[in-house]
Amino acid sequence: MTEDEVMMEYLRSCSIPEENVIDELRTQSPEFKLFYSAEGDRIRSPILWLHNKKLRKGDQLQPGFLAETKTFPNGYVGIIIRNNPAKIGDSSTIAHELAHVIFGDEGFPRVGHYRGCEDQEVIKLASMFSNMIHDPLVIEKLLKYGYDLRLEYAKECIDGIKKFKKRPEYSGIARIKASFLFAQSLIEYDLLFDENNNPVMNTYQK
Ligand SMILES: [Zn+2]
Repeated sequence: MTEDEVMMEYLRSCSIPEENVIDELRTQSPEFKLFYSAEGDRIRSPILWLHNKKLRKGDQLQPGFLAETKTFPNGYVGIIIRNNPAKIGDSSTIAHELAHVIFGDEGFPRVGHYRGCEDQEVIKLASMFSNMIHDPLVIEKLLKYGYDLRLEYAKECIDGIKKFKKRPEYSGIARIKASFLFAQSLIEYDLLFDENNNPVMNTYQK
C-alpha cells in the first residue's frame, strides 16, 4: 500500500455518513434546505466528513482547508465537523465550507503554496490571500438563502480592522497578513451591514 492509500483508508475509516450532516441540516435548518436544494448538485468533489468534537470555534472547518485537501488522492475534500450528527447551529459553517467546495469545483482559482512546502507562515499566507477573495463570495452566496450572518461576522470584521490599526507594530509577513484581513473585513462588512448602522467603521474610527 502506498502512503496515500494508507492515509485515505484511515480517513475513510473515521469518516462519518453524509446523512448525519446533510439530512440533519435539511430537516432542521430552513436556510440549509434552500441552500442545498439549489447548490447541492454543483458539488463535484467527493467529501469525507470527519468528526472532531474538540474543535474550537475559529478552527472548526479550517479556513483554507481546500488547499490542504488538494493533497488528498482522487480529489477528496475533507470537512471537519464538531457535532455528529450536525446541529442546527452548525448550519451556516457547514454551508460555508460547502460553498468553498463549489467554488473550487467550478474552477475559481485559489492561491496555493508549492507542493511539499512546510513553512506554516507561507501556507497560512496563501490561504489568507485566497480567503480574502473567496470568503466574501461565499458570504454573498449564503445571504441569498436567507442566512443572517451579522452576529457571526461582526466580531471577525472588527478584529480584522483592529489588527490593521496595529500594523505598524508588525513586520514582514505579519504586516501583510494584517492587510489581507483588513481588506476582507471591509468587503465582508459592506456585504453584511447597513451603512447607517456601522459598528465596524465606528470601531475603526475610535
Ligand atoms: Zn471560508
